[in-house]
Amino acid sequence: MKVLVIGGGAREHALCRSLSQDPAVTELHCAPGNAGIAQVATVHPVDQLDGAEVTALARRLAADLVVIGPEAPLVAGVAEPLRAASIPVFGPSAEAARLEGSKAFAKDVMAGAGVPTARSYVCTTAEEAAEALDAFGAPYVVKDDGLAAGKGVVVTSDRAAALAHAASCGQVVIEEYLDGPEVSLFAITDGTTVLPLVPAQDFKRALDGDEGPNTGGMGAYSPLPWAPEGLVEEVLRTVLQPTVDELRHRGTPFSGLLYAGLALTSRGTRVIEFNARFGDPETQVVLARLQTPLAGVLLAAAQGALAELEPLRWDEGAAVTVVIASEGYPAAPRTGDPIEGLAEAEADGSVHVLHAGTRADEDGRVLSAGGRVLSVTATGRDLAEARTRAYQGVGRITLKGAHHRTDIALKAARQ
Ligand code: AMP
Repeated sequence: MKVLVIGGGAREHALCRSLSQDPAVTELHCAPGNAGIAQVATVHPVDQLDGAEVTALARRLAADLVVIGPEAPLVAGVAEPLRAASIPVFGPSAEAARLEGSKAFAKDVMAGAGVPTARSYVCTTAEEAAEALDAFGAPYVVKDDGLAAGKGVVVTSDRAAALAHAASCGQVVIEEYLDGPEVSLFAITDGTTVLPLVPAQDFKRALDGDEGPNTGGMGAYSPLPWAPEGLVEEVLRTVLQPTVDELRHRGTPFSGLLYAGLALTSRGTRVIEFNARFGDPETQVVLARLQTPLAGVLLAAAQGALAELEPLRWDEGAAVTVVIASEGYPAAPRTGDPIEGLAEAEADGSVHVLHAGTRADEDGRVLSAGGRVLSVTATGRDLAEARTRAYQGVGRITLKGAHHRTDIALKAARQ
């Protein structure tokens, strides 16, 4: 099978790594990729938002499957010309990807499907926003309606800050505050059959103890020893399947990866958000535990054949990933610095370093090229072991000014 992956972050590196280990994959390509991906796939300098360019590349490579990683090309409709060219593609249409691209649309789908989520108002004026904030009270939750790379949500008890964020966004969704721990649950779907993966938890804030600004994600782990038994089945029944059914009934079937961000509140499980693609950095730990070869699963989803697939097999152990971010991330990341110690970090075979924002210079040196630079991932018999190994890996890498959280999976590993 010839596979082309679209994207160039740590999530795509994780996808490429798993695909490269699948014996069915004979050729692996990625566009645009990064310095780490280039070690397991042939990379192509293509504009990932340009559907015609991506389709031309897939045709030229005679790709049997195209996997679209990030949300931007999905929301931009890159899947459509590929499907029109009869190329199997893993990733939803632009219409179905609105589940992530518009928070207001997601709320509407959830209302139609009877999926439990926070009560909310869609607001476009300052007056509407003020009224909605006062209806719910503090802490206030204000979400930019459109895509904002994980940074469009403000949760604050400062009413003026909540209003200011609303004013800076245009259309916003203002909703009730959900208490309780968060879980990310991914499901692979072909538009009808839904196959949940194992749950993971990510860490959105920049600093230890969930302090500091929101980021794209600073680390993740799986499994969740504290999660209630039967959680996956419950979410499949009350969230994932009804959402997939609702979109199919609306004539916009969702095929690809449906990501449910959940809050386990005192009043039950609630959806915080949907994403239309693998989450980053949770993918790094979920795929580290997946034993079933990945390409066949993604192809089955692309071809509407998930119902015929054998149950997925999982490593019973644990995986932890720690993100190394560049100086100044998320506000103003500094780039262009050399990264040392990548091979040393992987000396222990249970550690692998996934590249996010990296590029190679003319001499083959790896340089930082983004806010989140690396995702150091380790497996172990349990979270404590995986965590120790991941941080040993982190300790071997040097990048000027870089920062990372030191408490990824810390609480869970103690349980
Ligand atoms: P989102 O981009 O919707 O995932 O939101 C980013 C983060 O904001 C989430 O991971 C939560 O930590 C927080 N958040 C979003 N919505 C709520 C809510 N209704 N109540 C509490 N926290 C929220």
